[in-house]
Amino acid sequence: MELVCINCPLGCHLTAIKEGDKITVTGNTCPRGEQYAINEMTMPMRTLTSTVRISGSIHDSLPVITSAQIPKEKMFEVMKALKNIEVKAPVKVGEVIVKDVCGLGVDIIASRSM
Ligand code: SF4
Repeated sequence: MELVCINCPLGCHLTAIKEGDKITVTGNTCPRGEQYAINEMTMPMRTLTSTVRISGSIHDSLPVITSAQIPKEKMFEVMKALKNIEVKAPVKVGEVIVKDVCGLGVDIIASRSM
């Protein structure tokens, strides 16, 4: 697998090869690149940003973000769960909008006050 490390602006081009249980990473300048490639090969994680509906505000949608990264494979499930959420203004930045979304142990929080 060819990857570009996203952990710092250097953007090292990584090659990760899996042989049995062992993953060998080359092209990384530091250990963070190796860990990034191993994570991408085994359980890729992502921060999800989206919006939910809001009433009582001049805007129709409130920007939200996951409080921590979630498994990439769960992104659509979480997006689907957010489709049915509607909150009422006022909302403060950092306020929990959905606790433990989809049982992942991660909250959906407001990324701005509205
Ligand atoms: S491997 Fe290290 S130096 Fe290279 S982009 Fe990743 S974090 Fe930066």
